[in-house]
Amino acid sequence: MSEKIPIANSINYVHVEALNERTYKNLVPYTSDMKTTKTFLFAAIDMILRYITELNEHDSPVIKNGLRTPAEYRKMFTFEIDDQGSDLYDILANCERILETTVRSGHPRFINQLSQGVDTISLVGEMITSTINANMFTYEVAPVFNLMEESVLTHMRDCCGWPKQGPLSKNGDGVLAPGGALSNLYAVLAAKHYAFPQIKKGGIQNGLRPAMVISKHCHYSMKRAAAILSIGTDQVYEVDPDESGRVTAENIEEKILYCQSLGLTVFFVAITAGTTVFGAFDPIEEVSVICRKYNVWLHVDGAWGGSTLLSPKTKHLLQGIDKADSFTWNPHKLMSIHLQCSAILIRHLNVLQEANQMCAGYLFQPDKHYETSLDTGDKTIQCGRHVDILKLWLGWKARGHLGYAEHVEGLVENAKFFYEALLKREPYFRMVMKPPFINVCFWYVPSSLQHYDQTTLEYKQRLDKVAPKIKERMMNSGTMMIGYQRLDDYPNFFRAIISNPATTKGDIVAMIDTIHELGHDL
Ligand SMILES: *Cc1c(COP(=O)(O)O)cnc(C)c1O
Repeated sequence: MSEKIPIANSINYVHVEALNERTYKNLVPYTSDMKTTKTFLFAAIDMILRYITELNEHDSPVIKNGLRTPAEYRKMFTFEIDDQGSDLYDILANCERILETTVRSGHPRFINQLSQGVDTISLVGEMITSTINANMFTYEVAPVFNLMEESVLTHMRDCCGWPKQGPLSKNGDGVLAPGGALSNLYAVLAAKHYAFPQIKKGGIQNGLRPAMVISKHCHYSMKRAAAILSIGTDQVYEVDPDESGRVTAENIEEKILYCQSLGLTVFFVAITAGTTVFGAFDPIEEVSVICRKYNVWLHVDGAWGGSTLLSPKTKHLLQGIDKADSFTWNPHKLMSIHLQCSAILIRHLNVLQEANQMCAGYLFQPDKHYETSLDTGDKTIQCGRHVDILKLWLGWKARGHLGYAEHVEGLVENAKFFYEALLKREPYFRMVMKPPFINVCFWYVPSSLQHYDQTTLEYKQRLDKVAPKIKERMMNSGTMMIGYQRLDDYPNFFRAIISNPATTKGDIVAMIDTIHELGHDL
């Protein structure tokens, strides 16, 4: 028998003791008596409310007592399943411990990942979604959600300015995917099918040598898509970006010609709207001219920066998106929608369906009594698919276009504040570049390094060790979380990215102070 965890905090509205000795059999659907079920659900919601309250105390830790070792977590939880099940009190006690020990990615000082925050409307969207437990694959089991998804994706394509085509007058196609990496896989898959429809059945044969040209700062999922689809990562040719992190159309053209000289057929070019580390925007308009010239599919990965389309002040960053063949846009990053929610948008009708359909007779009966184009299941690479649309639709309904414009502008404003605050703290803080977007990349330079010549190898090697050391101390104290990385020839630097509207200017100053406190003696 595992040791029982006591529920530490008093629960306001419910007598959890009533759940002692009660089991899953006292809950719906094992009984139709709702009494215990209600107590159990209210207790869970009460814990959630307490968690959210704590999150918004800005000086509270991001990880209570810091990140622990695997051994410590294993001791804290009994991960093993027993022969006898646990009672409901024990289940709730485990839930409470999870909420207590978790890394609080909703905390205003968690700026470690591009997806951040706890959005109340998204949360309700996920709760309702989960309550219904629907499956997106057919219209008959998720009619309203499929219509909702069609409508929101149409609107997202409208933001791209794609024209209406075909008998149904649609402005393209698309689907919500579990993340940007998967959306990028969809893009490569669709482009491959568009160029070489014979591969679906016959595989790559007869000396066909498909190749991709991408920016070196493209997300790594592009290369993985090449691996998954048997194009091979050797056939992915990378173009070096300039010092601002952007590729030029000339360099893309050069690479296409180089591939052609090797006897390869370039079918796909990928560039990025908001690169993951620097937040740079590649020149879509110029690259689209080259892609048209060589008849190559142009994919724009806007997983991070796609949401700039939402504000009239930032949408110029995506100038030329109307000419892209496909576009990845993650509402679960800049739009504060909960994981997972990513859109792959495709300007061409039918490619997704033709590339993926297997016509499984038990799901996609061709003689259904309704318009089967609303059965989205056969154009995906999944079978069942989670409902990701409700939280996005609710979030957009609540904010309206103006609310989201304000949201994006607020985040840009915060980034500007962050950048200016860092400039004031020289020489302890040094910028990697002037932020092209929300990503603020900088080094912390402790006093011990300030007298070094910055061009020397020794300086770089020492600076490279600073960010990981500060991060280690940060994780042990649990006060905040920020990511770091190397890129190209740059030694390890911090990347601050704020997509959580809860993060204030006060948090920004506090985070800068924290980094200084953790690192000044290094
Ligand atoms: C985050 C990111 C991705 C991957 O998205 P996931 O939702 O994490 O799969 C792809 N491309 C870019 C540019 C990104 O920033």
